[in-house]
Amino acid sequence: MVAPTLTGVRIDLHLHSTASDGTDPPADLIAAAAAAGLDVVALTDHDCTAGWEPALAAAGPLGIVVLPGAEISCRVGTISVHLLAYGHDPQDAQLRAELSATRSDRVGRARRMVERIAVDYLLTWEDVLEQVSPGATVGRPHIADAMIARGLVGTRDEAFETTLHRSSPYFEPHDAPQAADAVRLVLGAGGVPVMAHPRAGRRGRTVTDEDLAGLAAAGLVGVEADHPDHTDDERAAVRRLAADLGLLVTGSSDYHGAARPNALGAFTTDPEVYEAIRAAVRGVPIVGRAGTSVVGPGHPAGDGPDLTAARGAGR
Ligand SMILES: [Zn+2]
Ligand SMILES: [Zn+2]
Repeated sequence: MVAPTLTGVRIDLHLHSTASDGTDPPADLIAAAAAAGLDVVALTDHDCTAGWEPALAAAGPLGIVVLPGAEISCRVGTISVHLLAYGHDPQDAQLRAELSATRSDRVGRARRMVERIAVDYLLTWEDVLEQVSPGATVGRPHIADAMIARGLVGTRDEAFETTLHRSSPYFEPHDAPQAADAVRLVLGAGGVPVMAHPRAGRRGRTVTDEDLAGLAAAGLVGVEADHPDHTDDERAAVRRLAADLGLLVTGSSDYHGAARPNALGAFTTDPEVYEAIRAAVRGVPIVGRAGTSVVGPGHPAGDGPDLTAARGAGR
């Protein structure tokens, strides 16, 4: 059989499931991505890999490639940033410890915010827990959903622009690693670190070009230029900076299901960039050929990608 070319392949490298704050369970998410005509997607739930197994299991029969990943909460100084990690070893002890510390602090932080909100509004911690899927990482979106259920706000966006905003008296920062340390942890776990939406000012203060240069020096591999929270000018600026710093440029939807307007495939990543990322992955073996790759679940870590192995796992 002739190996399919990468031309026309649609790649979206930033999706969330119910394992964090998306509204689609992992298997449904992958089915929705396949139905939307995507060929390759990355599952990047916040600070967790709990969605990998069901997502990978769903991928094979659908003929869609799933690159397992995560979106790691971290900081540059006091500025909150998100680092995408692709194909890291989920069993890597150091990265696991860091993610687990971040997750448990997210719970404590969410509780502290709810306690403050409860002084002024009818909202309980139980209301928030009702919005969280089993095993999911608790976050501000779940508080927003509980506020919607209580009729306090109409939408998640309204909650984020008011009560849950960084400048709100109810806001509480959560503990997270410095981004340069997170970059090194991801590399140490065989993953590929890519800075998510570096210019998304709607979410709060953003990092400077110098900060990104420092992260590039620490080993950052790419930056997400094409993202729904970036303006056209911001997208162009990120591309210019990436060219200066020798970083890959990705594009993604940051899909969260019904919770946000971002459509699957709203932005996509060039096949050549995906190939470069895939070739750099060392944490999970990736089986298959260009355009037909399958990432299999449950492989022992550390073997590196086997790009020449027979395709077929799950296909
Ligand atoms: Zn993010
Ligand atoms: Zn995201």
